[in-house]
Amino acid sequence: MNTTNPTIHMVDLKGQYQKIQDELDQAVLDVIRSGAFINGPAVKQFQADMEAYLEVKHVIPCANGTDALQIALMALGLEPGDEVIVPAFTYVATAEVIALLRLTPVMVDVDPESFNVTADIIEAAITDKTKAIVPVNLFGQSCDLAPIMELARKHNLYVVEDNAQAIGARYTFPDGTVKAAGAVGDIGCTSFYPSKNLGAYGDGGAIYTNDDDLAARIRMMANHGQVRRYYHDEIGVNSRLDSIQAAILGIKLRNLDDYNTTRRAAADHYDQAFADVAELITPKRQHNSTHVFHQYTLRVTNGRRDELQAYLKEAGIPSMIYYPVPLYEQEAYKGKAANDVDFLPVTDLLCKEVISLPMHSELDEDTLTYISDKVKAFFA
Ligand SMILES: *Cc1c(COP(=O)(O)O)cnc(C)c1O
Repeated sequence: MNTTNPTIHMVDLKGQYQKIQDELDQAVLDVIRSGAFINGPAVKQFQADMEAYLEVKHVIPCANGTDALQIALMALGLEPGDEVIVPAFTYVATAEVIALLRLTPVMVDVDPESFNVTADIIEAAITDKTKAIVPVNLFGQSCDLAPIMELARKHNLYVVEDNAQAIGARYTFPDGTVKAAGAVGDIGCTSFYPSKNLGAYGDGGAIYTNDDDLAARIRMMANHGQVRRYYHDEIGVNSRLDSIQAAILGIKLRNLDDYNTTRRAAADHYDQAFADVAELITPKRQHNSTHVFHQYTLRVTNGRRDELQAYLKEAGIPSMIYYPVPLYEQEAYKGKAANDVDFLPVTDLLCKEVISLPMHSELDEDTLTYISDKVKAFFA
């Protein structure tokens, strides 16, 4: 019960662990006793499990989600100065790897309802230097990728999906075909950061693709640019998922759909509670993607977002602002975008309006009621 002295978490990793503790403890012990810490059977098994779950030909595990994005871009063989289109409303990692590789980010706005980039927005930013698009499946649902893929094919561009927040979501094409979010673009990238929907107990990430040639290049880039040991064809990096994390992730993967169902039910609860609060816009669910609610993100339209956050804090309710600052306003990225943006209206508005409420697989009815009652009381 959370009526008197609530202990409410943004994410509840402990509660989730306790439910599958025996299985997880055993799996970790098994790895330790086996001595196979790097590229052991646990990693190979998890890779195969992920390939089956995502219905994708190749999964290449790596050290974290940022590495996944970097390695994916390295595998494309782009040249310094090539332009890569990226939303300005995202986690910094998406643009960071582009800049780090001396490619040029082209920052674009997002759709105010889905928080995602659209084909129309991207099309307006394409130049003769554009080589790739990195759509971000933000907060738990896929971008509308069919028109983005069509655009990419027309202009001969690669699509690298940043799927760190939408693992388990499914995208439906106009013809009814369903694919896993992240498995639609040429390459998909994900993160197993502990608070992600599929989270490890440390860092982890994965890259996926259906293209055999890209998969071979990704594997090589993640492994010091070598195919044959000690023969280095390209300058690569060292990025591995360790066996202990793979063993943990394998068990959690079997529970992922249940976790996501529980998150969706929590979102239903919030949606209903806030339906008649005029100052709030609840997150819109797209017709062509299921939503796995990595975040439940409201828009506060009366300018009182920060006041609401302080009020909730006082009531023992954590909340987060994802994201408070547009990428083009970040010190490191000012003036770095090829299109020289210093203002995008939707991104700017969202950074001022958004607030994310506690969202995880262990939220019970009492807690959800406590949180939504407090939010409603603020606006009453
Ligand atoms: C978490 C996240 C990443 C980076 O993942 P790490 O594992 O922390 O490196 C990249 N992009 C998005 C959208 C993310 O949410």
